[in-house]
Amino acid sequence: MKLVQIGRPSATFALPFKHRAVGGKVLITNTEGNFLLLTDDEFKAFAEGTPAKGSELYTRLAERNFVRGAENQEQMVARLRARKGFLSYGPNLHIVVVTLRCNETCVYCHASRANMDAVHTDMTKETAERTVDKILETTNPNVTLEFQGGEPLVAFPIVQHILEYALEKNKKVGKQLEFTMVSNLSLMDEDKLRYLVENKVQICTSIDGPAHLHDKQRKLPKLSAHQAATHWIRRINEEYARIGLDPNLYHVEALLTTTRETLPLWKDVVDTYVGLGCKALFLRPVDPFGFADRSGPKVEYPRREYLEFYRSAVDYMLELNKQGVQILERFAAIFLTKILGGEDPNFLDIRNPCGAGIGQVAYNYDGSLFTCDEGRMLHEMGDSTFLIGDVDTSYRDLMGHETVRALALASNLEAQPDCVNCTYQPYCGVCPVHNHKTQGTLFGRMRESTLCAVHKGIQDYLFEKIGAGDPEIVSILQKWTTVRDRTHFLQSCAL
Ligand code: SF4
Ligand code: SF4
Repeated sequence: MKLVQIGRPSATFALPFKHRAVGGKVLITNTEGNFLLLTDDEFKAFAEGTPAKGSELYTRLAERNFVRGAENQEQMVARLRARKGFLSYGPNLHIVVVTLRCNETCVYCHASRANMDAVHTDMTKETAERTVDKILETTNPNVTLEFQGGEPLVAFPIVQHILEYALEKNKKVGKQLEFTMVSNLSLMDEDKLRYLVENKVQICTSIDGPAHLHDKQRKLPKLSAHQAATHWIRRINEEYARIGLDPNLYHVEALLTTTRETLPLWKDVVDTYVGLGCKALFLRPVDPFGFADRSGPKVEYPRREYLEFYRSAVDYMLELNKQGVQILERFAAIFLTKILGGEDPNFLDIRNPCGAGIGQVAYNYDGSLFTCDEGRMLHEMGDSTFLIGDVDTSYRDLMGHETVRALALASNLEAQPDCVNCTYQPYCGVCPVHNHKTQGTLFGRMRESTLCAVHKGIQDYLFEKIGAGDPEIVSILQKWTTVRDRTHFLQSCAL
C-alpha cells in the first residue's frame, strides 16, 4: 500500500487523527470513532490544511470533527459516552465450569477436557451455591450466567441446582438474569430439553462445518458428533417455534473453530450453517489454549491464509444476503456496530479495555476464580497467572486484584505501544492472555501478534467494502449491526 506524497503538513488545520491506505483510498479516524475515506487528492488537501471553508470537502471533514475550531464538543462527548458506557458497570458475564468432564474428544479442545471418569472435576453443590452468591454480588444490574465445561450436560443436576438456587436468591437481589449454555448437545434428551426451554436457558453449540470435517475434529465414541449436534439443533428450534417464538430471532446459534482443514471449505461451512437455520457464523481462528497448543502444526496456519478464507467466506455470505438469505459474520458485526453504529456491543474480547475481571469472571469447578475463561484455560495448562481468588474472596478484593488492574492497563489501547498509533484503535481490542501465552508479555508486540493480524485484516476488508460504495452491500453491512432481540431469555427480576 502506497500513501500519497504530502507537501508541508499543516500543524493547525486538523484535529488529532490517524490514517491508513485502504482499498485505493485513505482512511482517517479520530478518537471518538468517526471515519472518512478520502481520495489521495482529498487527503493531501486535508493534511496540508487547504480545504476552503464552505467547500464540500471542508464540510464533510468538519461534520465528522476532523477540523480544528469547527469541532462539535457535545457530539464528541455523546459519542465517547456511547462507546465507553460499559465502564460504568461491573462484570456482566459469569462463566461457570460445572465439570471438566466431556464425552467428546476435540483435536483443538481449548478447555483441556477431562475423561468421563474424572468425577472429581464436578462442581459440588456447596461450591455451586457459593459461586452463585459471588456472581450476584456484581455491581452490574445485568447478569449472564453461562454454563460451560467440559460438557455441562455431563453434570446436569449441578446445572439445575445452580439455576434454581440463582432464581431463588435473585428474588432478593433483583438482577436482570439470563442463563446460557454452551454444549456439544450429544447428551441432550427430551427431559433435559424441556427443562432448559421451560427455564429459558439459551443454548449454543459448536459446528465445525460439513459432517466429514466436524466428525474428523470432534469425536464421539460411537456416534457421529455432527449428526448428534444437528439433530438437537433442529429439535430445539422446533421447540422454540412450538412455544410461539419468532424463528428469525430465536434459534440455536453455533460456534466454529477454524483449523487448517477448514480453510479450503469456506463455502461448505457457510452452506452448512445456512442449512441448519443459523443466522450468524463466527469465523473464529483456533486459539493457542488447551489441546490446540499441543496439536499446533496439525490445526494451525499462517494468518494470511486465514484472511483469504475469511474474505472468500464473507464475500459469499454477502452474495447470499443479496438473494434474501439472512446470515451474518460475527467478527464483522462486532466491528461494524462500532464503525457504522457508533456503539460498542460490549464483546469482551474486542473492547478497550477488555473485559478481564471488569467485564467477566470465570468460575472453575473447584471454586477458583479467573479473570476470564481464557485465563482459566491457561490454568488447566499449568499457568495460574490469571487466578484472582476463589468463591470466598471478597468482591472488592477480586475487582481490585493486581492482575485485574494489570489486564485493564495492558488492554487499554491508548497505552498499547502499537495500537496507540493504529487507525483501527477506536474499534479494536487486544487480549493480554493471548499476548502472555504467545509472546510472554501482557502488553505484547502487535506487529508480531496473530490476533492483531486478524483484527487488522478484517477491518481492512470491511473498510474496502464500505469504500467501494456499492449501496446494496453497505445496506447489508448496516443491517449486520442490528442487535438481535433476546427478551424471551430474560428472567423476571422481582424484588
Ligand atoms: S490490535 Fe492491531 S489492529 Fe487492533 S488497534 Fe492494535 S495494532 Fe491496530
Ligand atoms: S484477557 Fe483476553 S480473553 Fe480475557 S477478557 Fe481480555 S481479551 Fe478476553
